[in-house]
Amino acid sequence: AINVHFILQVLLGDVGAGKSSLVLRFVKGQFVEFQESTIGAAFFSQTLAVNDATVKFEIWDTAGQERYHSLAPMYYRGAAAAIIVYDITNQASFERAKKWVQELQAQGNPGMVMALAGNKVDLLDARKVAAEANGKRSNGFIVQFCFGFNAHACQFDFLFSLATQEAQTYAQENGLFFKETSAKTASNVNEIFYEIGPKDYLE
Ligand code: GDP
Ligand code: MG
Repeated sequence: AINVHFILQVLLGDVGAGKSSLVLRFVKGQFVEFQESTIGAAFFSQTLAVNDATVKFEIWDTAGQERYHSLAPMYYRGAAAAIIVYDITNQASFERAKKWVQELQAQGNPGMVMALAGNKVDLLDARKVAAEANGKRSNGFIVQFCFGFNAHACQFDFLFSLATQEAQTYAQENGLFFKETSAKTASNVNEIFYEIGPKDYLE
């Protein structure tokens, strides 16, 4: 019996947030430090064997620049699922992500499944490691330790933790799946693509 399941996904988000890097990590298991800017859009596919089923991901990676905005509906209209990507170190990219969510809610496929990816979480981990190396525990909520010579690094962690909370709350309110990801370390990359992937083959 033919048992193939397709899903068409689209990546949207600010330029530089890491859309191309996430798809490259998912499809090829690679990461490049100086990923070239996407022109227009790029198409990727990934086929996986799951039990006796074949699951095929077809993915549109869009450019993100404002000058390509009018092309975006061509890519998201036919899509069953979207990953909206922002860069956790860039507040403006989070604001841009919210705009994309609004646009998809208004003009996307009804019933479109959406995930929000707070990408580059490795940059936060790097700060945590640095803070720990200086004898500080820094899980964000342990802010009472954030005084003295290393207050700066600790403060950063605290700010980032607030941003995580803000994104999580926003995602919950809008019915989005949410993960902090890293295309660099591969953290949560498969998870986020699978979460919005086909589910019917599991039945
Ligand atoms: P796009 O414009 O959204 O497609 O973003 P790109 O995938 O081109 O990435 C922009 C820049 O961010 C590139 O220099 C990437 O190497 C870098 N980048 C992407 N994802 C990550 C990540 O998870 N961690 C880090 N540290 N850098 C990343
Ligand atoms: Mg790109």
